[in-house]
Amino acid sequence: MSGQNKEVQLYHATIKYGVYIAFAIHMVWLVGFWRLQFETMAAVNVISCLVYVIAYFLMKKRKYVTCFFLVLTEVMAHAVVATTVLGWETGFHYYMIVTAYVLFFFPQIRGVKATAFVIIIILYMGVYRLTVNVPPLENDIAAFVFPEANMIGALCIIALLGSIFRNNFDQMIENLHQMNRQLEHMAATDALTGLFTRRKMYELMSEKMEKNNFFYIMMIDIDYFKSINDQYGHAVGDAAIIHVSEVITANLKGKNFVSRWGGEEFLAAAEVSGVEEAERLAETVKEEMNINVLHHCGEAVPVTVSIGIAKWEEGRNIEEVINQADRALYNAKQKGRNRTTIHEVVET
Ligand code: GH3
Ligand code: MG
Ligand code: MG
Repeated sequence: MSGQNKEVQLYHATIKYGVYIAFAIHMVWLVGFWRLQFETMAAVNVISCLVYVIAYFLMKKRKYVTCFFLVLTEVMAHAVVATTVLGWETGFHYYMIVTAYVLFFFPQIRGVKATAFVIIIILYMGVYRLTVNVPPLENDIAAFVFPEANMIGALCIIALLGSIFRNNFDQMIENLHQMNRQLEHMAATDALTGLFTRRKMYELMSEKMEKNNFFYIMMIDIDYFKSINDQYGHAVGDAAIIHVSEVITANLKGKNFVSRWGGEEFLAAAEVSGVEEAERLAETVKEEMNINVLHHCGEAVPVTVSIGIAKWEEGRNIEEVINQADRALYNAKQKGRNRTTIHEVVET
């Protein structure tokens, strides 16, 4: 699932909770109005509850944008009616502030947000002018309870929506981190062999260059690989690449890094005591390839490698050393393959 889809899904979850919360609040008010004999308002609340039932089915049909606007309109209309009927003092207009807050949550309606916001402001000011001078309610309980109940109600909704949004946001950030870790892993790991990629190898060699005085570069290339592909097919070619990568890693453990440099070419950076050990290690890899034979349909597939070695030491350019290893590898190929060659530095 893409990040964009996940983001939209989280907003849908916020709407879902919003619909449940709004339905619950309207049910409470319905009972309250009924008990305090505000029959008109109780009837309005019945209509509101029905609107939330419709909103629920719209969500089921995944018509989230329609559902979102239906809920916003209901809250606005209900707040306008209740404030007009019961007066500014009762605080039903607080829910209009909630709509302004909710309006900017939803990502799929960017074009109409400004218009909707202007409508909310105009309605809020209009309701204020219309109702500010309406005398207080005669019902003492209602006059006492409604303002506080609406203050608490509106503040709770804002706090609740804020915390739902915060949780969703945290989840999105976590998803993003997870995706970044996956991408980092993909950029660092070769899909076929699980070895480091060329890109990651440059990073690792840079670290080695900061820590060590010297190390050895081994360029390892499969001999006559094209014929393996041609004779046995591409799948066996791939199996040969995996086989070679396993033999190299089994023999170059510890502080040595191995990468898949190209198609059937591997580059290793070996931390060894000197050129003799580097050569011994390369010879072991080469010999192991002759002993540990790859089989296909009971038949031995001849896989040998040629290796070129060059030394990196402080002050040297790594690209230059890689080129030297490449030239040594070329010499190994020229001399008949299945062998190791060291790049000899000519002292001046
Ligand atoms: P040499 O001994 O001189 O190295 O000869 P070679 O045939 O190994 O070298 P060459 O560079 O001519 O051929 C390499 C071939 O490797 C060419 C390409 O089709 C193949 N190849 C590159 N990547 C892959 C891969 O991921 N899988 C398979 N099966 N083949 C690949
Ligand atoms: Mg080759
Ligand atoms: Mg090659």
